[in-house]
Amino acid sequence: MVPASLIEEAARAIAARLPLVALTGAGISVESGIPPFRSPGGLWEKFDPAVYASIEAFRRDPSKYWSIRGDFIRRLDDFIPNPGHIALAELERAGLLRHLITQNIDGLHQKAGSRSVTELHGSLREIFCLACNRRYHAPHIPPGTPPRCDDCGGVLKPNTVLFGEALPAEALERAIQEAATCGCLLVVGTSAVVQPAASLPRIARGNGALVVEVNLERSPAGAELFLEGAAGVILPRLTDALRGSIRLRQSKGTRHGEDPPRNL
Ligand code: NAD
Repeated sequence: MVPASLIEEAARAIAARLPLVALTGAGISVESGIPPFRSPGGLWEKFDPAVYASIEAFRRDPSKYWSIRGDFIRRLDDFIPNPGHIALAELERAGLLRHLITQNIDGLHQKAGSRSVTELHGSLREIFCLACNRRYHAPHIPPGTPPRCDDCGGVLKPNTVLFGEALPAEALERAIQEAATCGCLLVVGTSAVVQPAASLPRIARGNGALVVEVNLERSPAGAELFLEGAAGVILPRLTDALRGSIRLRQSKGTRHGEDPPRNL
């Protein structure tokens, strides 16, 4: 259990280094019942991503991908945001979090109310036909493994980045720009090994930002401050402490040129 003093130290450090940007990974959705890929029990312990989740493998035999992901995609609406997602949405509403970069594809940040979100690896909610490009919204997709387009019979693919595919250029550009211009990067629930997302903490640090990490174990993100524990427990505590730190700073006077945060 992270002591209150460490949470408060992190909150004071973040309050002094706004604007804040968050980078999240699969770990933040674990408490919503969605397993990560690399941790024990994760999907890649059972299935080889080269066989099941590369674009090459998908083109060769899309039924392999759909056989392990189909059920999950069809049940997407059953998953709900946990206190970690909700805390980040609250931070945005309070004017304390400028932007959220996520590697997740589950849409739970938006479901929690986050609006300024970059989905670096796309979204499982958007499904499209590889032949005619018709769009479907998961979980409302035709049956079958692989599911096929109602209009043309083409194979459907989620709008997510499979291994071997390039990241959406606009999303990557925005993520790099956010990391390069924030005062603090809050890194939550990522193993920080999947490139190029794994480079964002280095980019932030290289531009003078503080990096704070929330995770069950330290990742190679190289954070100056590490808060060990589940995101759904730590983030609500950090949010409360951050509000307190900001109020304290405000009571001492907002510095010239600073925008006072909203809705504290
Ligand atoms: P990862 O699976 O490589 O690592 C998960 C990380 O989360 C680990 O560092 C682990 O220690 C940490 N973690 C586990 N439970 C946690 C908790 N309760 N609180 C805080 N941290 C916790 O995940 P990654 O780094 O995001 O990279 C995996 C790739 O897999 C990404 O590309 C992502 O698109 C994809 N993915 C997404 C989802 C999702 O959308 N929910 C789920 C699985 C994988």
